[in-house]
Amino acid sequence: MAAQETVEHKYVYDFAEGNKDLKDLLGGKGANLAEMTNLGLPVPPGFTITTEACKAYLTTGREPDGLAAQIEAHLESLEREMGRKLGDPQDPLLVSVRSGAKFSMPGMMETVLNVGLNDRSVVGLSAQAGGNDRFAWDSYRRLIQMFGKTVCEVPGEEFEHALDDAKRAKGTQNDLDLDADDLRGLVDAYKKIFAKHTGREFPQEPREQLDLAIRAVFESWNAERAVVYRRQERIPADLGTAVNVVAMVFGNLGADSGTGVAFTRDPGSGAQGIYGDYLANAQGEDVVAGIRNTVPLQELEQIDKKSYDELLDYMARLEEHYKDLCDIEFTIERGKLWMLQTRVGKRTAAAAFVIAGQLVDEGLIDLDEALHRVNGAQLAQLMFPRFRLDHEFQPVAKGIGASPGAASGKVVFTSARAVELAAEGESVILVRRETNPDDLNGMIAAKGILTSRGGKTSHAAVVARGMGKTCVSGADELDVNVPAKRFTVAGQTVNEGDVVSIDGTTGKVYLGEVPVMPSEVVQYFEGSLDPEHIDNPLVRAVHRIMTHADAKRRLLVRTNADTGADAARARRFGAQGIGLCRTEHMFLGDRRELVERLILASTDEERQKALAALLPLQRQDFSEIFREMDGLPVTVRLIDPPLHEFLPPLEQLAVNVAVAQERGEDVAKEEALLAAVRRMHEENPMLGLRGVRLGLVIPGLFAMQVRAIAEAAVEVTRSGGTACPEIMVPLVGAVQELETVRAEAEKIIAEVVGDSGVEVLIGTMIEVPRAALTAGQIAEAAQFFSFGTNDLTQMGWGFSRDDVEGAFFWRYLELGIFGISPFESIDREGVGRLVRIAAEEGRAARPGLKLGVCGEHGGDPDSVHFFHEVGLDYVSCSPFRVPVARLEAGRAAITTTGSDSR
Ligand code: ADP
Ligand code: MG
Ligand code: MG
Repeated sequence: MAAQETVEHKYVYDFAEGNKDLKDLLGGKGANLAEMTNLGLPVPPGFTITTEACKAYLTTGREPDGLAAQIEAHLESLEREMGRKLGDPQDPLLVSVRSGAKFSMPGMMETVLNVGLNDRSVVGLSAQAGGNDRFAWDSYRRLIQMFGKTVCEVPGEEFEHALDDAKRAKGTQNDLDLDADDLRGLVDAYKKIFAKHTGREFPQEPREQLDLAIRAVFESWNAERAVVYRRQERIPADLGTAVNVVAMVFGNLGADSGTGVAFTRDPGSGAQGIYGDYLANAQGEDVVAGIRNTVPLQELEQIDKKSYDELLDYMARLEEHYKDLCDIEFTIERGKLWMLQTRVGKRTAAAAFVIAGQLVDEGLIDLDEALHRVNGAQLAQLMFPRFRLDHEFQPVAKGIGASPGAASGKVVFTSARAVELAAEGESVILVRRETNPDDLNGMIAAKGILTSRGGKTSHAAVVARGMGKTCVSGADELDVNVPAKRFTVAGQTVNEGDVVSIDGTTGKVYLGEVPVMPSEVVQYFEGSLDPEHIDNPLVRAVHRIMTHADAKRRLLVRTNADTGADAARARRFGAQGIGLCRTEHMFLGDRRELVERLILASTDEERQKALAALLPLQRQDFSEIFREMDGLPVTVRLIDPPLHEFLPPLEQLAVNVAVAQERGEDVAKEEALLAAVRRMHEENPMLGLRGVRLGLVIPGLFAMQVRAIAEAAVEVTRSGGTACPEIMVPLVGAVQELETVRAEAEKIIAEVVGDSGVEVLIGTMIEVPRAALTAGQIAEAAQFFSFGTNDLTQMGWGFSRDDVEGAFFWRYLELGIFGISPFESIDREGVGRLVRIAAEEGRAARPGLKLGVCGEHGGDPDSVHFFHEVGLDYVSCSPFRVPVARLEAGRAAITTTGSDSR
């Protein structure tokens, strides 16, 4: 026989068998219960059924072979340890059945307490509790309620209504006033509700209760809300949940019992101290349910000093052990403290930095680990202006912080009204139930967007994040009535034109205008706060971690800046050059006139005249930027957009011509413009006459720009500065394009530069898929590549950003076609592959080829890690993103064994 025995797959682990590093298998809760058990902390005994059992159940629809027997064996040993049997009529063992996945998904999955109670063991439980009938019946009604709701999908309100009825009959609001008889009656009412909805009696067999509860926890992994939550939080869908079966301890045995939560540091600010809530005579669920008021944890010292001191001791030990902020759930049963859960606690962005800094000071972690524990998204949050909430302002509603920032303005309910008021210079907040693609103009015009429906992937949220606009979505306390132009919240009515303030970080909504203050972190980056001499713990921590990130990173961080002012600010934020200086704004404003002349020129002479007039203006722009960036490289992109973007729109011109004709005025110029606009009309301007194509068909255009750049560089260098210009040709798809432009440019540069010592590099953007695929050839003619990942994404996917974000991205996100917009974070598999190919083949053809990225992805944390991996030399991003990119480049460069930071 022995030879035939196969080693059975292990699906069940006793708490003593696990540890904190087994989260994949035991889930976070189970792994940490095991860890606490092994540390010698008082955890009620129990066992964990693995995520593998769950996955097997979910794929086959039945429990895997051997699971039932393993549960039986572990249950027996639990019974032995407790000296009681599950559901024994005389002296019952009760257990809780608790979900627990690898990543915590608060409130998403299920827990059933008091499994093992039935009509007979309820009497035994009372005897166990010294004849406490009230407690026993209260526990039983909780079981029917939780079991009914989570295992059998009985609507929870039905139980709540029955409980309200019982309280009303008793003339009380407090569930503690219900006595044993009232609760016995409630159990009857609950059983009827159960039978009505399930068509069967409440199961009396303890083992059946247990098996059904375990199965329900498995299934809760695929519950709608859990699926949605995972998608939002980007948690993989195939991890499964573990199930913890834990001997019950009771916080509802009287005044000497209770339950609570505790944090080892303030998860809001990171400050050290004792934070938490305690609720006497209650079971765990009551604390979060808020059915009675909790007291601050400090008050436990008066209530039960022994347990309090013990708890503090465990908190210190857990922090020391996990080397991080821990949050804890505990229960006291008649003066005996039990630890029911711990995990590395979630925290705000500010607390993340402060705690990481403190832990370094305390010698618990090193700076690499501190850097690993914060991230760019948190830093970005800390850079937004904040509401100054010192006094009087109380939120009237709370939705989802869908796109960060703080915005105040007059309420409007339609896109049209938003556009109208914004044109008058008003700040407006667009309020809708949910937005749709028709609201796009209003969203652009508004300071902020507030919706009463929809989550983090709703249309409003996605579009607002894409635009960098403050948005609170899903504020469901708001009753929005668009036709009546008002909404009601908390008993108040807000009409069109009333002012509200929304906080896109916290999701809070305020009536009236809340004053705004700049972030201290930005003041620090701007250089107006000296980190060594202020005692703001946040700024000190940010300074310390940023300094470390800078020391560790390999990627350089440049900025996208088109003006001297932007360049100067970005430099203060730590930019090491300009990766993208666009030249198109230099053709706007009072220079439009010249551009019109250029476009309308019918002879070579006219064209040359217009270009000659533009030359000194461009030169001036460039020298200003070179001066601000003294000594650092500046990549200037030659003109990129289609030229008709510089002309008035067709409709407007047509009207002008008609009106002028009516009045008998001279319309020659308008007619010429109109004809030009008609001639230049393109069906797909994004794929039309733009970028390098312009340079090849409009004689002298690129030459003028190249000359302005070279002359400015020489001017700055002659006056004692150092200009390092890099000329970048946009939209190249074939090496011949670049060669043609380059030949002309080199002639001009040689002529202008002379012996001034100025060196001008010539390179290209890689933003057309064909360029990426022929990068080996293109590198022969290019001294650097800069990946334009916006266009590369548009052309790689075949959609234009402006058209798609409002039209269907929200749906794609909802369906999970992508987890995040490919414009927000680089699509590693597709567009990223093009980058990888171009980087490899470019460097193979020209060793040492300088590689950078200048799309908006340069400031996106995830993308920065990708660019580090691919081996680029630098990323370039908007000035405000520079610190984020510095931090993430540092994080990408360190390798730690640290845990998943989710
Ligand atoms: P969640 O994952 O939502 O936090 P838990 O599994 O932690 O759910 O259960 C919720 C609450 O139920 C816990 O905070 C705890 O107070 C209570 N609880 C769970 N198991 C037990 C137990 N064995 N004895 C007493 N209370 C328990
Ligand atoms: Mg819990
Ligand atoms: Mg481009």
